[in-house]
Amino acid sequence: MAKLHEELIQVNNLKKYFRISRKSVLKAVDDVSFSIKKGETLGLVGESGCGKSTCGRTVVGLYDATGGSVLYEGKDVHRLKKDEKLQFKKNAQYIFQDPYASLDPRMTIGDIIGEGMDVHQMHSNEKERTARIHELLELVGLNPEHAVRYPHELSGGQRQRVGIARALAVEPEFIVCDEPISALDVSIQAQIVNLLIELQENLDLTYLFISHDLSMVKHISNRVAVMYLGVIVELASSEELYKNALHPYTKALMSAIPVPDPDVESSRERIILPGDVPSPINPPPGCKFQGRCKYAMPICKEKTPELVDQGDGHFVACYLHNK
Ligand code: SF4
Repeated sequence: MAKLHEELIQVNNLKKYFRISRKSVLKAVDDVSFSIKKGETLGLVGESGCGKSTCGRTVVGLYDATGGSVLYEGKDVHRLKKDEKLQFKKNAQYIFQDPYASLDPRMTIGDIIGEGMDVHQMHSNEKERTARIHELLELVGLNPEHAVRYPHELSGGQRQRVGIARALAVEPEFIVCDEPISALDVSIQAQIVNLLIELQENLDLTYLFISHDLSMVKHISNRVAVMYLGVIVELASSEELYKNALHPYTKALMSAIPVPDPDVESSRERIILPGDVPSPINPPPGCKFQGRCKYAMPICKEKTPELVDQGDGHFVACYLHNK
């Protein structure tokens, strides 16, 4: 992992609500705070629908924020001037979950990668543009001859490599990797994660790595934040979280990760949570996990627990730990 420096991103009390009808609002992200240091990977995990992708999109300005702020090098990304906004769009890139849906089927791979370079005028002539596209293809493990192909001619893994090359083309500092491997075959997933790790080390990149796959998040992340129904319930260093999870929801997620040792796997307890994740349109009051938590107390239904540092940057939002 790259050496960590000062904070690059600061997310403060971020909210992203979607109005569904005149009377109902979907609270996809509801008061979320975290920071990411330069050169760090912060993993953001949780089940599908918990708000992690909405959070990632709001952090890079693909969505406006309903409330709170996202500071990038001290400036709020939702309040930038026109020229600052263009620079931020270059600095902060997004790798999408479905590489096929995110690549225009009518464009060649070369033009898909070159599009951002054209917007930011990163080359002075066609020869320089082509040379850079070829260089980027090689950087992500493809060949220069892929430049004249179309997305449908490539495999899923190759298409995701194109998605990565497109993000790298504008020389960003920060990339949100939104479930970059979940649409790929298991055999390809580790290759893409290892490529992202290698690129981070060589290019000094900072990642927000969004995934529902806890074992993959552990492999790539310095720290991990666990999301449930629009809020962060636990945040700690990757090692600490996997050794010493404190929140009942995190413990349940952890118990579902398969262990390679068959003796350990057969003897350990799997925590099955009752019920389903409630709707973010009508979330329960107090702790959003209270309806599924076997430790719920009267206060859990009345007041939202705050994310409190238990020591060494291990934060948890739960009354079992925040008395
Ligand atoms: Fe369970 Fe209460 Fe902790 Fe929420 S705050 S996880 S309901 S014990």
